[in-house]
Amino acid sequence: MAALRRLIAGNWKMNGLTADGLALASDLAARAASAPPDCDLLVCPPATLVAAVGAVLAGGAVALGGQDCAAAEKGAYTGDISAEMLRDAGCTHVIVGHSERRGACGETDEIVRTKVEAAWRAGLVAILCVGETRAEREAGLAQTVVTAQLSGSLPDGADAARLVVAYEPVWAIGTGLIPTLADIEEIHRAIRAGIPGGTRILYGGSVNPKNAAEILGLVEVDGALVGGASLKAEDFWAIAAACG
Ligand code: PEP
Repeated sequence: MAALRRLIAGNWKMNGLTADGLALASDLAARAASAPPDCDLLVCPPATLVAAVGAVLAGGAVALGGQDCAAAEKGAYTGDISAEMLRDAGCTHVIVGHSERRGACGETDEIVRTKVEAAWRAGLVAILCVGETRAEREAGLAQTVVTAQLSGSLPDGADAARLVVAYEPVWAIGTGLIPTLADIEEIHRAIRAGIPGGTRILYGGSVNPKNAAEILGLVEVDGALVGGASLKAEDFWAIAAACG
């Protein structure tokens, strides 16, 4: 299969007040306008900044995403944000099933699946995160856990135009640790066997300007989901530039 156009997605998590977010977005928008990299670009700011960052990015090459969405469309869900609201605020993508939500918020595969459905209902691309814990990897269960998460979280009717899968080993997130390149390829191949052809699979977990080229150089890797390094325009840009 021909190589897919890579996607570099930044997950800002719960970081940034208005001035920080707008400065980062403006910097990225300016870089994208003057020297577009050979990849698609996406940033996922905290919910408070989605609309303002969207206004800065409007019409440019950097797309906008949410970090999570509710399963329901509207109603009595205090504190939640629906996929329709994200779409209304200018988003084209939403991250679902991030390990920080699976872990800290108790999101099961079933809950994640309803969120993917919500994303599709609203016309958003769902970035579905899967990944094993350190204990699961050490027990030799990484592939089993990841493929079970994938099949449990992925609704029927998936297609490459509205799905991206992010393989994010929990133990690699924010730790500076990454799997071996062979391990990344092995898990991506297993994921690919369970999703429609042409669906992009991102690697996420401690991607930085130093390791980006070797990770993004893997045939099985169609981009990166970047946390910490997406908060500095220079670092995020260096990762995007590693797409070649
Ligand atoms: C993430 O949380 O999605 C992530 C990849 O974080 P980091 O790049 O900081 O490891």
